[in-house]
Amino acid sequence: MSKLTLLRGDITKLEVDAIVNAANSSLLGGGGVDGAIHRAGGPAILQDCQAIRARQGGCKTGEAVITGGGNLPARHVIHTVGPVWRGGQFDEAHLLANCYRNSLQLALEQGLKTLAFPCISTGVFGYPLEEAAPIAVETVREFLGGHPGIEEVVFCVFSPAEEKLYSALLNA
Ligand code: ADP
Repeated sequence: MSKLTLLRGDITKLEVDAIVNAANSSLLGGGGVDGAIHRAGGPAILQDCQAIRARQGGCKTGEAVITGGGNLPARHVIHTVGPVWRGGQFDEAHLLANCYRNSLQLALEQGLKTLAFPCISTGVFGYPLEEAAPIAVETVREFLGGHPGIEEVVFCVFSPAEEKLYSALLNA
């Protein structure tokens, strides 16, 4: 059975098959967790992103692409683009669930077994944490139930408030 775990800290330190990046559609890097991943991973990740841009012109909201992990302990980075919160009436919940599903699907296709997610969209993109966290947990749980190939998914939260909320959801 696949494991769902919770950890508070810096996702760039995790030794997993892939960490997920809350990227933007340009794939050219940004602030928050995106900036931290590119800083820690070095220029190889950006080079891979540029090759993807040349091929398909960035990444749409809800979709995911994969690059190498550069200098990170993680072997790969899965870049997914979360929705910008615009009040909840613009398909945000569905798009956010797609981020988790498409990242897991890509990991599965690549034969990856361990994966770590940050809280997608809840920083600069403004998605309320209380609404985003249940979507993250439910979507990942549902996917893992149908796809035993993934062995472990870590929710890598960053703040004590995120930790409290995820802990309650995971123990429910
Ligand atoms: P978005 O643009 O999708 O909102 P952000 O990077 O602004 O993405 O925020 C997403 C979440 O990532 C926030 O909850 C933020 O606290 C968290 N975060 C920032 N840096 C790190 C890190 N190094 N490791 C894990 N999570 C991080």
